[in-house]
Amino acid sequence: MDHYVVLSRKYRPKDLSDLVGQDLLAKSLRSCLDTKRVPHAFLFYGIRGVGKTTTARILAKCLSCIGPDGSTDITSSPCGICRSCMAMTNDQHMDIMEFDAASRTGVDDIREIVDASQYMPVSGRYKIFIIDEVHMLSKSAFNALLKTLEEPPGHVKFIFATTEVNKIPDTILSRCMKFQLNPVSGETLSNYLISVAKKEKINLEEGAADMISEESEGSVRDALSILEQARMLIDEFQAVTQDIIIDMIGGVRSNDIEKLLKLILDAQTRDALNKSEALIKNGAIPFMVFKELQNAMYKVITEKVERNSIAYPLSNLLYLWQILLKQTESMKDAFYPECVLNAAIIILSYTASFPDIDKLMLKETSSKNQLVQKVGEILGEKPILETISKNENKLIDTVLKKFPGANLTEIE
Ligand SMILES: [Zn+2]
Repeated sequence: MDHYVVLSRKYRPKDLSDLVGQDLLAKSLRSCLDTKRVPHAFLFYGIRGVGKTTTARILAKCLSCIGPDGSTDITSSPCGICRSCMAMTNDQHMDIMEFDAASRTGVDDIREIVDASQYMPVSGRYKIFIIDEVHMLSKSAFNALLKTLEEPPGHVKFIFATTEVNKIPDTILSRCMKFQLNPVSGETLSNYLISVAKKEKINLEEGAADMISEESEGSVRDALSILEQARMLIDEFQAVTQDIIIDMIGGVRSNDIEKLLKLILDAQTRDALNKSEALIKNGAIPFMVFKELQNAMYKVITEKVERNSIAYPLSNLLYLWQILLKQTESMKDAFYPECVLNAAIIILSYTASFPDIDKLMLKETSSKNQLVQKVGEILGEKPILETISKNENKLIDTVLKKFPGANLTEIE
C-alpha cells in the first residue's frame, strides 16, 4: 500500500518559486542570495499558516546547497539532489537545527544554541539555527542570545520566525533582516487550490474553491487541509461543491441567509428566530451566521446606495449595520454563542421596525431636548437589551451633525 502523504505536506514548497502568494518576499530573498549579501540573522513574521517556517527551511537549504558536483556557492535555486539538499529533505541535516521557542523558552535552551554555535559546521557551509515562535523566549533567553547576535561567528546563521513581531526586543530586531509574509489573497489561493485539485484529480468547483480560500483566511496550509477533508467526504467521481464545504465548516447557504435577513428587515422577529434556530439545528455555527449576515447586510446597503432599489431607509440600514457589528464583536467572548445570536436577531428585527429616522428628524430639529424626545419616540418603549439605549447618544450626535442648522441654544 502506498504511504499516504497529506496534501499540506505533499505540496509544501521546496524552493522559493513554490511559495504561494509571496512574490515580493521571494524576490527579496533571491536578490539577497544571488548578490551574496547575506546577513547573519533573518526574521520572518506574519500570521499563522502563511509559510514562515517553510520559508525558513527553504532559506536554510539555499544557504547550504553545494550543487550536484559539490562546488556551488550559496544559491537562490538549490539543486535538490546534493547531499546537503537530500539531508534537508530527509530532516537529517546535521548543521541545520530547529528550535520551537514555544516549548523551549528558557535561558538554558538558548545557552545550548550559543554553545553549539561555537563549533564549526559538521558537513555544511553554515551552522543554521531556525528558531520558531521566537517571541516566546524569556527576557533572559533573549539576553543570552543577544551576545551571539552582536558578534556571531562567520559560520553561523540565525533564522527566526514569529507571529508576534511586536513582542521581540528592539535590540534583537535591529540585528535581523526582516521579512513580512502576507496572508495569501483570496484569488491567488483559489487558483492555487484549483491547480492542486487538478493534479490530485479532485473535481473542485470554483465556488467551492472560493469558499475554502475565504474560510482559510490567507493560510495555504489551512486551505489544503479543508480541501483534503472535503475529498474524504466524496465518492471518486463526485465533485467538491459549495454545499459540501458549507456543511463541513458549519457555514450557511446564501439563500438561507438572505431569507433570514429579509425576515429581520421585515421585523418578523418570531419567524427570524425560527429560521436561525433551524440553521443552527442543521449544523451552522452561530459565528458563521453572523459572518454571512454581515455579508448580506453589506450587499443590501450597497444596493441601496448605488441603485436605491430598496424601499428601506438608508439611515435605518446604517443603524442596523452598527448594531450587527457590535453584536458580532460581543460574540467573541460569549459563553453561549447561540444566545448572542438570538439576542442579536431580536435587537435587529425590533430596531428594523422603527420608522424612517431621517424623516422624523427633519421635522423638528430645533433643540437637543426635542431630539432626545424624538429619539425616545423612535426607540419606542425602552428596550430591555441595553445595546439600543447605549446607541441613543450616538444617534443624537449623528443627527446633530447631519442637521447643522438645528438651533442648539436650548442645550443645557
Ligand atoms: Zn543542493
